Amino acid sequence: MEAAGVVIVGAGIAGLSAALASAEAEDVCVIAGEGPRTSSSARAQGGLAAALSEGDDPALHAADTLRAGAGLCDAQRVRELTEEAPGVVAWLAQFGVPFDRDSSGRLALGREGGHTRERIVHAGGDATGHFITEALWQAAARHPRIEIRREHCVGIAQDATGRAVGVWTWDGARQRFVAARRAVGLATGGVGALFGRTSNPPSAVGAGVALAYHAGATLANLEFVQFHPTLWLGRDGEAMLLSEALRGAGAVLVTEGGPPLFADPADNLRTRDVVALAIARAEAEGHRVYLDATQVRDVAARFPSIAARLRRAGLDLASQPIPVTPGAHFLMGGVEADLAGRTSVPGLFALGETACTGVHGANRLASNSLLECVVMGRRFGKAVREEPLACTYTPEEPTWLLHPEQDEAALPELAPVLWRSVGLVRDESGLRAALVELEGMADRYPGSGAVLAASLIARSALWRRESRGSHVRMDAPAPVQAYARPSGMCKAHRAATSVAITT
Ligand SMILES: Cc1cc2nc3c(=O)[nH]c(=O)nc-3n(C[C@H](O)[C@H](O)[C@H](O)COP(=O)(O)OP(=O)(O)OC[C@H]3O[C@@H](n4cnc5c(N)ncnc54)[C@H](O)[C@@H]3O)c2cc1C
Repeated sequence: MEAAGVVIVGAGIAGLSAALASAEAEDVCVIAGEGPRTSSSARAQGGLAAALSEGDDPALHAADTLRAGAGLCDAQRVRELTEEAPGVVAWLAQFGVPFDRDSSGRLALGREGGHTRERIVHAGGDATGHFITEALWQAAARHPRIEIRREHCVGIAQDATGRAVGVWTWDGARQRFVAARRAVGLATGGVGALFGRTSNPPSAVGAGVALAYHAGATLANLEFVQFHPTLWLGRDGEAMLLSEALRGAGAVLVTEGGPPLFADPADNLRTRDVVALAIARAEAEGHRVYLDATQVRDVAARFPSIAARLRRAGLDLASQPIPVTPGAHFLMGGVEADLAGRTSVPGLFALGETACTGVHGANRLASNSLLECVVMGRRFGKAVREEPLACTYTPEEPTWLLHPEQDEAALPELAPVLWRSVGLVRDESGLRAALVELEGMADRYPGSGAVLAASLIARSALWRRESRGSHVRMDAPAPVQAYARPSGMCKAHRAATSVAITT
């Protein structure tokens, strides 16, 4: 049997931060799947939010975060997150993250939607995620107490009391058990790939949500999926995000022929739910929407990765508007956890986008997720030291194991259902029909975490009979006070704690 003090699943910014922080005291095994280069982390463009400028303050950052969260944020955790943000930038710089600086050597700060101050630190212009991920990955690879394995986690091992004591992994040929003496951390990212049209990598199919659900953990707010307003879709079907920082730098949304999408240019920087919905409405009326960055000074130099990708497709960001459309981007919900990642299952932690800590509420403020990944990773590193030691033995195989090949088989059938009925705009009859279809797929694709995560999202969206943040119900177009609380569900109650639905 193989064992480590801490086992972390996923090698995005959350998993790598957690690995480096916990390796200060424990030996760590990272189950890295396909590695960090295929993570959402590596794709992050805009940056990481921190109140660092004169005239800014963590309290202002917190106020902006709470406003975006539409009444569902945990205010205390938001305060803690925003207060820790400047320290996060310093911690990352220690690993050699080359944050962009102005001519006087100060950190260059950008602005994104929903922020009332310039507070987004970035690296390589629009390649922030790439630079942070690479720096952390190199540090983890060099670290004498961190072992990295290119395997997939397919199950959580639990002892007779339910405590998580390790993971089952699959390397394409063999299944193995890796024991965790202190803690298992799930950092498998989000769910964007379930929707087909997404900014996320193919690995974002909700593995962590499915694994945690089967381990008995409480899930929260799964209905809140953020749709980013400005995805560019390449001819090969590959999607690329046109960072919100472009609008922060002065780019505006226009409809074909040039009329602006918003009468007031300031509305281009409203929160993502508002902007995405405005684009979806224009599309429903038969208009194509474009992002016009032609007035942004030095746009190609400031956004080099985006400009280069568009150039390869024959488009020039500096001289022509680029067609955009909304796509699934970020999961505000996930496995219910505190800021150190503790879930309702002893020994099991959820980190980064897999977790729902309440800091994003019903709608994430731009550039708060990389921040959350690092804050959680660092707190996890401290929290695991207090976890009691588990006995190391090989437990029985869990009754449910993830079968990644079933995800692959299910996705072409699943994604159109999710996009059509559980996408940007939802209603009761569509959600009920989608749920029936998705639950029917569970038998045809046994072991598919994607099918399970998709049906849990649909179930949560059906429960929330109101519109709030990113969750838009045509049949309940306004917020309802009775729903001003997080949704929750866990396997023990089958369809739920607060999400109880009969189909
Ligand atoms: C295009 C894009 C741009 C973005 N821009 C920004 C931004 O500017 N600022 C910001 O704050 N946020 C941004 N975000 C959001 C942010 O990048 C993510 O929320 C964050 O990086 C998530 O990090 P993570 O470590 O939780 O998950 P990820 O980075 O997604 O990493 C998860 C890892 O887990 C692995 N994995 C999955 N399943 C398994 C399994 N079963 N076994 C083993 N490994 C597994 C995956 O392969 C992946 O490597 C952006 C997201 C995208 C997609």
